[in-house]
Amino acid sequence: MDNLDFSRPDSFFKGNMHTHSTNSDGSHAPEAVCAAYREQGYDFLVMTDHFMEMYGFPVTDTRPYRTGDFTTIIGAELHAPETTVGEIWHIKSIGLPFDFEPLRDGETGPEIAKRAHEAGAFIGIVHPSWYGLTHADARELPFAHAVEIYNHGSAIEVDRGHDWPFLDVLLNDGWKLSGYAVDDAHELTHDWLGGWVMVQAEENEPELLLESLKAGRYYSSMGPEIDDITIECGQIHVACSEVDLIAVQGRGSRSKHAMGDGMTSASLDLYPFEESWFRVTVIDSHGKRAWSNPYWLD
Ligand SMILES: [Zn+2]
Ligand SMILES: [Zn+2]
Repeated sequence: MDNLDFSRPDSFFKGNMHTHSTNSDGSHAPEAVCAAYREQGYDFLVMTDHFMEMYGFPVTDTRPYRTGDFTTIIGAELHAPETTVGEIWHIKSIGLPFDFEPLRDGETGPEIAKRAHEAGAFIGIVHPSWYGLTHADARELPFAHAVEIYNHGSAIEVDRGHDWPFLDVLLNDGWKLSGYAVDDAHELTHDWLGGWVMVQAEENEPELLLESLKAGRYYSSMGPEIDDITIECGQIHVACSEVDLIAVQGRGSRSKHAMGDGMTSASLDLYPFEESWFRVTVIDSHGKRAWSNPYWLD
């Protein structure tokens, strides 16, 4: 996992990594969903239909809906028995081959996820709070790249959309994972345009975006922009769009913050986070957040 380096000559591309279409339980056809996101200024979309027998194990082909300034990555939401609380697993798989084999007899969630990982996919631990996933469950996916730290649909519909605290516990254990925000859009009404990632890449190409996602070279947002995070002279310098809080969180209770109306930068002490990790959160006057990925200093 890399620390996001804002000085790289790359650009940032905006994308939603969790979306459903009529190929599973979404209300719009893949073409309409892609067009809707493109018209809203997104650079890329990952269609992640439910990879279940009742839908014919779809790996939705969104390649026909790519345009000059909009691309897609092929993915799916994988399902199999069974989490600690007896639910079907939900596991994000991005960069999945079209010939990915359906669920095998007796295969578990971690087993099908491992198979997707071996096929080259980014693996995400999705909406933990929404369905009561435990940390013991998460530890069955030691090859995972990230935790879905904000799921807009879960947040709006059942107020179970925020999962940075879930990921923090795993970071305290020494696990190097990134965190990503998504819509989990089904209807394109209340459940979209709420959470996204800004991925750093040389170009808006599926393979390059996937490589950056796996390496953690992105940040997540509900609105604010993060323009820079630099470590220099014992300080963490953050630059961003106008916000009222710039906070740095680390191992256990370690934290630093700056508050003020319409701040666009802050410098906070690095020492509490040395030999461990930190991450940055900014919150604007509407309560919208943006979150960096963790930075590791060990
Ligand atoms: Zn799900
Ligand atoms: Zn979903």
